[in-house]
Amino acid sequence: MGLLTKIFGTYSDHELKKIYPIADKIEALEEEYKALTDAQLQAKTAEFKERLQNGETTDDILPEAFATVREAADRVLGLRPYRVQLIGGIVLHQGRIAEMKTGEGKTLVATLPAYLNALTGQGVHIVTVNDYLAKRDSEWMGKVHRFLGLSVGLIIHDLTKAQRQAAYAADITYGTNNEMGFDYLRDNMALYASEQVQRGHHFAIVDEVDSILIDEARTPLIISGMGEKSTQLYDQAEQFAARLKKYVVTETDDKAEEDPAIDADYVVDEKAKTATLTARGIAKAEEFFGLENLSDPENSTIAHHINQAIKAHGTMKRDVDYVVKDGEIIIVDEFTGRLMFGRRYSEGLHQAIEAKEHVSVQRESKTLATITFQNYFRLYNKLSGMTGTALTEEEEFSTIYKLDIVEIPTNRPVIRIDNEDSVYKTENGKYRAVIRQIKACHEKGQPVLVGTVSIEKNELLGKLLTREGIKHNLLNAKNHEKEAEIVAQAGKFGAVTVATNMAGRGTDIMLGGNAEYLAKTDLRKAGMSDELIAEATGYAETEDEEILNARKLFAEKLRQHKEEIAGEADRVRQAGGLFIIGTERHDSRRIDNQLRGRAGRQGDPGETRFYISLEDDLMRLFGGERVTNMMERLNIDEDTPIEQKFLTRAIEQAQTTVESRNFQARKSVLEYDDVMNKQREIIYDQRKQVLDGLDVKNIIMNMMNTSISHLVAEHFAGNDHLDAASCRELLRQVEGLYFPKFTVRFTEEELKEKTAADVTEAFTAAAAAYYEQKEQAFTSPVMREVERVVLLRVVDEYWMDHIDAMADLRQGIRLRAYAQTDPIIAYKKESLDMFEEMISAIQSETVRRLYSVRIKKDEEIKRERVAKATGESVGGDGTVKKQPRRVQKIGRNDPCPCGSGKKYKNCCGRNA
Ligand code: ADP
Ligand code: MG
Repeated sequence: MGLLTKIFGTYSDHELKKIYPIADKIEALEEEYKALTDAQLQAKTAEFKERLQNGETTDDILPEAFATVREAADRVLGLRPYRVQLIGGIVLHQGRIAEMKTGEGKTLVATLPAYLNALTGQGVHIVTVNDYLAKRDSEWMGKVHRFLGLSVGLIIHDLTKAQRQAAYAADITYGTNNEMGFDYLRDNMALYASEQVQRGHHFAIVDEVDSILIDEARTPLIISGMGEKSTQLYDQAEQFAARLKKYVVTETDDKAEEDPAIDADYVVDEKAKTATLTARGIAKAEEFFGLENLSDPENSTIAHHINQAIKAHGTMKRDVDYVVKDGEIIIVDEFTGRLMFGRRYSEGLHQAIEAKEHVSVQRESKTLATITFQNYFRLYNKLSGMTGTALTEEEEFSTIYKLDIVEIPTNRPVIRIDNEDSVYKTENGKYRAVIRQIKACHEKGQPVLVGTVSIEKNELLGKLLTREGIKHNLLNAKNHEKEAEIVAQAGKFGAVTVATNMAGRGTDIMLGGNAEYLAKTDLRKAGMSDELIAEATGYAETEDEEILNARKLFAEKLRQHKEEIAGEADRVRQAGGLFIIGTERHDSRRIDNQLRGRAGRQGDPGETRFYISLEDDLMRLFGGERVTNMMERLNIDEDTPIEQKFLTRAIEQAQTTVESRNFQARKSVLEYDDVMNKQREIIYDQRKQVLDGLDVKNIIMNMMNTSISHLVAEHFAGNDHLDAASCRELLRQVEGLYFPKFTVRFTEEELKEKTAADVTEAFTAAAAAYYEQKEQAFTSPVMREVERVVLLRVVDEYWMDHIDAMADLRQGIRLRAYAQTDPIIAYKKESLDMFEEMISAIQSETVRRLYSVRIKKDEEIKRERVAKATGESVGGDGTVKKQPRRVQKIGRNDPCPCGSGKKYKNCCGRNA
């Protein structure tokens, strides 16, 4: 702690001082509320709602509302929120991040602000990292809310639209970040408001907020459909890349790339995660693909595929970055070690890896909608979060999300011992030391949790332990429920658990073991199905006999195990509590802190130590020259820890470097997404207006007006009047579309008089009249419906193309090697132009389609149905003939078929 913070206190100390008086008020109500009957306590909800309607604010009623929840939680769950939990709840209500250590009871904390804010009737979202936790929390905490008369919903995978709507309509909705983000995107693709599921973004409480807003923020959410591009080129690029020789640069020879004498076809920079062809590699590529010049723009597709192929070979490691499972490439989350099912690397890298691993290469998909988590969560009027580890990311939370962090004191003092790192010269030496430590703990029965950074290391350690005959649980990326179960038992006497970082985040490790999980195992032994067990341990309301009996058995077993565990917990405490071993420093200090925090919860004893070797990636890549030199100088054997003060500093420095690099990467993702976000907001907002029943006719008439006046202006070409030829030309484009032939005609005399405004007026009047006529024929309600659907469809089609075009633009701009221009500025400028073009294209296309709408006669519809059903026509001889394609000849002066409203020769036909 620096001297200044010692004197003045930290930011959190300062902020807490302002919160204590509010906590005092809540605590002062304790006795009064204890004396209430259940009915009286439940009546508070209606009273609060009324007071809010009469002008009081949520801040005004906070002490009473919190006191109500506190009392209810005690009665319903047997948990009475501690003072620090009340404080955490206040911080959340204030729209900030509450940093509360693992085991402090954050799940319960969230009920306090959730109840208070739900009283306004606008809906509160509680967001967790996975389905398992969302379900657990909604059932468990849902009991308190239901007791108080609020409804609770749950958003997880595999729900129908109706179920989602019901869940979002609830006062409080628990759900995962992925599902909520996807629901938002899907809502904005709906054609009817009744198909939408969310009802606004009022207040969100994000659990494990660093995991969701920081770790997950680098991969945006994408809804995609099937694209048309072929996949063949990936296999070819792979065949080519597989025979190349690579060269991996290390810290000290950054210059290798420019070295012409280097004996390699491509150079890999592990630090920057890039792979680049050398001159020799380029020559080989040109020969392989039969090209004259690989850097020629017309070969850019091949060049792109080659680049992804060598990237797949050079920088992407199997079982570290991804795994191959059932013929699919699954990304491994580098922070959690979890498999990210359904996520794909973008820009063809995923396909390149598929080709490399010889699994079937999936079609490139077309993005239909996309958003980053940053921009999704910024939609909320009020955002708050909780986690054990946020402070290291203070800057990011404040600049990106405008969230400040208040560190909440623990309920009981932390007595965990955090040891200095043990640094070894080699990886082998390090692992031997780790095994020695595990053995030492194991002998006295002290449970050990070993954290590993990758699946590969995780399995390696497992093998070493097996060789030593130490029984252990190995955990890497399984399903969340299993994961939670194993982690929950990590505190048993003598347990050894090896897990990838943060496996089972959100699950409490209790010393002596977790009674709940042991009781569950008993139910399983009693022959109960997994579903029944889930019901038996769940909190959902039910009257089912079987479930109620199972619950009775569960409660009985739970009580038994709790008694046993109490004794075992004491033995574990004597042995020193949970021992945490880190086998490598993670890129981010936060992840290390998260691992440490699993020990010493609620005042338990515990100990942590990180084991590091100078050969670890982090040290090798970011340790700097001093570390490298030292490696050579040191005359220490492998098994002796190196104790050098500067090493600890070097490690932390390396971590800060990587952290800020990652922050920059996320910031860059966001900077680009921000550009699109503005456009997305405009599009989604206008869509919403249409869905909410805006009168579209007016808009359509304005669009028609704009389209016609553009056409007219184009044909006037800056002149005061129109000549006969141009007039004919102009008429050809408007007649038959905006109004029937011969509706408007000008004599040569008239033409000499008419200005552009006159002509526009004449045309638009005719077009409006024609539209009225159509409306009469269709009837107004039908016309309104057609307008809505056509407008939304056109907007969606163009917007989806625009998303892809923006991605291409971004890629293109990155490839442009102009040192002087800031790529983001170029991107902003060009994408704005593209957006404006898209808007005007949407307008003319919508108008065009609406004016082309015809009422179909009965037999016409019938004929079409038959044609559609068969797809082909059958000739007299019974052979199947392909329907002849109707080719439309477009004249150079005809309107361009792309719907731009320009002449073909001035638009798509420019080079024809
Ligand atoms: P966190 O998310 O902060 O790591 P959890 O919400 O998972 O912690 O809670 C950890 C454990 O603490 C749970 O078993 C819970 O039942 C218990 N707990 C939480 N609040 C209280 C309380 N006020 N009194 C007693 N036990 C509590
Ligand atoms: Mg938690």
